[in-house]
Amino acid sequence: MKRHMTQEVNIGSVSIGAGHPVAIQTMWDRPIEDTSSVLRSIEDLAEIGCDLMRFSILDTAALAPFSEICRHSSMPIIADIHFDHTLAIGAIERGAAKIRINPGNIGARWKVDEIIRASKDHGTAIRIGINGGSLPVQYRKTPDHVGSMLTVISSYIDMFERQDFTSMVISLKDSDPGVCYEVNKAYAQRYGYPLHLGVTEAGPLIPSVTKSAFALGRLLYEGIGDTIRISITGSIEDEVTAAKELLKTVGRYDHGVTIISCPKCGRAGFDTHAFMHDIQRELSVIKEPVTVAVMGCAVNGPGEAARADIGITGLGRDVVIFKEGTIIAHVTPGEAKEAFLAELKVIIDEKYHN
Ligand code: SF4
Repeated sequence: MKRHMTQEVNIGSVSIGAGHPVAIQTMWDRPIEDTSSVLRSIEDLAEIGCDLMRFSILDTAALAPFSEICRHSSMPIIADIHFDHTLAIGAIERGAAKIRINPGNIGARWKVDEIIRASKDHGTAIRIGINGGSLPVQYRKTPDHVGSMLTVISSYIDMFERQDFTSMVISLKDSDPGVCYEVNKAYAQRYGYPLHLGVTEAGPLIPSVTKSAFALGRLLYEGIGDTIRISITGSIEDEVTAAKELLKTVGRYDHGVTIISCPKCGRAGFDTHAFMHDIQRELSVIKEPVTVAVMGCAVNGPGEAARADIGITGLGRDVVIFKEGTIIAHVTPGEAKEAFLAELKVIIDEKYHN
């Protein structure tokens, strides 16, 4: 796939742009005062593929726990700031690897310039993020919404370039996935600063994944996009999993487990739904690229399993485990999880650790 080549920007230990893998981001959705619990969650999210975590900084009280999180997190931490430029500077001074601002709501130009100066001093990247719903008032009712978003982002990019600041990431989000696609595609034809992709306020899991697949999937498939967040009215773990699956689907993520599983029907001799639910967490932390098949019966089971590194399927009253199409074990449903994961570990060790 041809990648839209962007310049490299470092967000702490994660480099984006210039052909680096697309970084997966999510956003913390709870209070941050209990920093030990936040840090534990960050580690869990890193295990399932999250690369970057963003926090809203709402007031000065948030800066102390934010600082603690930045100091101890293995993952680069991003601060999301609106309206108050002193909070942006405070977050930069306390270790934010990147901040996200909308210059339009920071206010006077000198305030943005102070943020830029602090970012330069601390090597902090800045995401200039604009949403279709929060354009400056004179652009809100113009019929050419995409054109307005591009005009506004161009003026902000100029503002930063005039200060000789180029460690920028851009985001152009809208709740309309068609607008998201058009505006990001048009941006990518003009600029080389890395793009953070997202459909804003995308709704609960299924609507969000559907809209994101439509807009972001197309952009990613065309080689556009350097970081991604699937915004879900739901769990942040699902945001990470959905981003990973979308990247895999468009060929922009080459590790982790690819799952082939059947929807189950009346022929099923094996409860694929329950089994998938049971092994979800174990599969989500595997980094090596392997394909697993979880099938309900003999109609498609062995055939699909033949294409996978390992498969499990109902076969009459039995449950059988396949390795590259050959049966290697007959097990009871009660033994299935343990036996399947043990065989999967053997396959991963043989393929990648010998
Ligand atoms: S593999 Fe078997 S159980 Fe699963 S959907 Fe196909 S026919 Fe039904």
